[in-house]
Amino acid sequence: MFSYRHAFHAGNHADVLKHTVLIAVLRHMVQKDNTLTVFDTHAGAGLYRLDGDYAQTSGEAVNGFLRLIAPIPNPAPSGKPMPQAANSTKHTLAPALQEYVDMVASFNAKGSFKVYPGSPFLIQRLLREHDKLKLFELHPTDSKTLSANIAQLEAGRQVAVLREDGFEGLKKFLPPPQRRALVLSDPSYEVKTDYARVAATMADALTRFATGTYVVWHPIIARPEAHDVPRKLKTLATKAGKGWLHATLTVKSSKITTDDTGQEHRPGLPASGILVINPPHTLKATLQTALPQMVKLLAQDENAQFSLTSTD
Ligand code: SAM
Repeated sequence: MFSYRHAFHAGNHADVLKHTVLIAVLRHMVQKDNTLTVFDTHAGAGLYRLDGDYAQTSGEAVNGFLRLIAPIPNPAPSGKPMPQAANSTKHTLAPALQEYVDMVASFNAKGSFKVYPGSPFLIQRLLREHDKLKLFELHPTDSKTLSANIAQLEAGRQVAVLREDGFEGLKKFLPPPQRRALVLSDPSYEVKTDYARVAATMADALTRFATGTYVVWHPIIARPEAHDVPRKLKTLATKAGKGWLHATLTVKSSKITTDDTGQEHRPGLPASGILVINPPHTLKATLQTALPQMVKLLAQDENAQFSLTSTD
């Protein structure tokens, strides 16, 4: 356990999907005056350096967030033409993607992208003074880094960092006193039990607080339990009489390839999804314009695609 460090993946295509959706949901929710409590059950370290050792090792932001800044033509390894490949540095981003890029830019000196803000910082930036943020992070090093990063905000009692299991820790806070909450659940799924636990946590949360908005990220990989996550969450929401929205983004084939020397190459994470229970009514339209552009800009081969389904 605990070999996952988000610093290796910060700004990758999964972060683009997750953080674009997170910002769009939160923007909508802060339009109402009433106090909002946001829970991030798997918060990570909070801030990441795109030029640091971790990020350099995998360079995942290069094929993720950084492509929104300067799209690059990226021919398919198969040699087949990629009709959707980006081939121009001049492009107008969909409003939700522009908002996401602007938000990341606001953590950086003009013209440079050295810092990538994780979900705790994106969320905190959008909150009003009277809103609250509770961050769970279990990794000893990352929770220390998160606490130190959050301390710099001087946000006082608005933000709490809890070195606790986020699945379990959420329970004691639901329902929140003001009865308005957004829960982001973004496990690393490095332990197989995360797949079942995320669904069980949402089932429990819906019984405690059915009107909350729940945003769950999941990987799309060849494991039955990974496919079960969105299916189970849709069933839970439907049984509770609540609406849901499910967006997925695929950037490349999931096939393992073999090169001329016989060496196998695993594709890394090819796709991910985000399931929102009680989504804002504006979210579907927002993503209808943003998702095709994510495919266009983040495609790594001709298998890139998106899906968007919802109860309305
Ligand atoms: N939400 C972050 C973001 O978008 O910037 C990224 C989070 S990362 C995918 C998942 C994090 O969950 C890791 O930092 C990991 O240490 C932490 N973690 C793993 N199991 C946990 C648990 N049971 N409770 C709380 N945190 C956990």
